[in-house]
Amino acid sequence: MPLAEFSLIYRYFSHLGGGDAVDLSVGDDCAIVRLEAGERLATSVDTMVAGVHFPKDSFPEDIGFRAVSAAASDLAAMGARPLGMTVALTVPETDELWLHAFSEGLAAAVSEYRLPLVGGDTTRGPLSISVQVLGALPPDQALLRSGAQVGDEVYVSGTLGDAAGALAILKQQWRPAAGHTEYLLERFNRPRARLDLGQQLLGSATAAIDISDGLLADAAHIAAASGVRLCIDPDRLPLSPALCSHENRETIVRWALTGGDDYELCFCLPPGSAAPAGTTRIGRVEAGEGVDCGLAIDTATGYQHFSDQ
Ligand code: ADP
Ligand code: MG
Repeated sequence: MPLAEFSLIYRYFSHLGGGDAVDLSVGDDCAIVRLEAGERLATSVDTMVAGVHFPKDSFPEDIGFRAVSAAASDLAAMGARPLGMTVALTVPETDELWLHAFSEGLAAAVSEYRLPLVGGDTTRGPLSISVQVLGALPPDQALLRSGAQVGDEVYVSGTLGDAAGALAILKQQWRPAAGHTEYLLERFNRPRARLDLGQQLLGSATAAIDISDGLLADAAHIAAASGVRLCIDPDRLPLSPALCSHENRETIVRWALTGGDDYELCFCLPPGSAAPAGTTRIGRVEAGEGVDCGLAIDTATGYQHFSDQ
């Protein structure tokens, strides 16, 4: 790599690497991240490609923040304690304004999630960002998809369908009032990974997953892995006032059930458990298979991409 590119790395990325568990950050052949005795490493990687996972003209700050959120959400779903992340960035050209803004988006995510940027890779090519997250789990605990028991109650965090509403706005299919538009686009561009909730659920939730592909599709993964049926009551879905400003109730419910990119958590608790703050009970676990929401909804709504943007 030419010297100029090293100085780019040091200008835009190397200052984001400090953290309690970081023994060695950007600048050597590997980063060194410390685990406490007996802890286990949880790791996952997620790639976002311009024109596929986000519109090509998205603000670089949002691209950075959202890519980290999507990856961090997988740590949340496992109940892992964030340790750090690496970012593999492919950019078509050395655009310093773009890199500066992208680095600001990463910085916001680093501090919000306490997820230092300990290393990465920088290459030239069509714009894409891969974020690998590292987290710690105790020796004997993890949130898995496979532990749901008949009789458990099903919960979700936050509100559902906001990112799907934002997608309709971006595709110019819906034009809500200004305040609602701003809120929904913020939910799409700046989704919040529920890392604190995930760690709080460790030891109490019997199963968990993050909602990246839509509630019905992701709940179906819990059902399949646990060998149970998840029954979801569409009247209980937590919906934002902004989403509810849409005139068609059926569309709202479909977005909440099938829209992806919300990065909320869906999890199961034994009956009678206290609901953690900011979560809503939406159904229960029964014997059987699959997900039942009492509505005929096609979960395979198709893969959305942004190549026409
Ligand atoms: P190597 O050739 O040993 O893989 P590189 O030349 O790719 O190392 O990178 C030099 C250093 O800069 C490494 O510590 C690497 O982790 C870090 N780095 C490279 N690109 C990024 C990036 N986009 N974000 C954070 N750190 C990066
Ligand atoms: Mg090396």
